[in-house]
Amino acid sequence: MGKFDLYKIQLNSLSEESHSFDYELDNDFFKKIDSPEVQKGDVNASVSLKKINNTFELNFNLEGVVFVPCDRCLDEMEQLITYKGKLFVKFGKDFSQEDDDIVIVPESEGEINIAWFLYEFIVLSIPTKHIHQPGKCNKTMSSKLKKHLVLSENDEEEVLDEEDDDFVIEDTEQISDPRWDELKNIIDTN
Ligand SMILES: [Zn+2]
Repeated sequence: MGKFDLYKIQLNSLSEESHSFDYELDNDFFKKIDSPEVQKGDVNASVSLKKINNTFELNFNLEGVVFVPCDRCLDEMEQLITYKGKLFVKFGKDFSQEDDDIVIVPESEGEINIAWFLYEFIVLSIPTKHIHQPGKCNKTMSSKLKKHLVLSENDEEEVLDEEDDDFVIEDTEQISDPRWDELKNIIDTN
């Protein structure tokens, strides 16, 4: 049995009635897909299928959580996702995607594997900006990242805590250093 056989839907043996399929997309699924955006999660997917004339209408309903790196601190965070969408499948000569939601599959094969579609729908439903709940970020990491915007690794010993109220720039020579200007900007905007 192939890695993704579970996600194959035989179309040519379906009657006119509707059918439904349920999948649990767990860590194992994401491991098999082996794509960088999402590597862990637990998503329930239910897919219902209707045949209308020569078109198969697939309705997807996804709900669950995925684990992705937080935009602010890069630590793993739990992201809730839900997705509802349709995909229309038609028979043709070769496999192709006509539109975002119309897929042609070779009639000789008569089946569609929806593993990659399920994965894509999950990725699509992750908000562009995803950060931890307030206060839940990895503080060490997020302040380090901020500092790396202005100071290189080699200058680590010069790193000053911008949240320290007593912080004063004493060395006048360093004020002309553009990195210090950037640091000052960060302090001013905080
Ligand atoms: Zn975070």
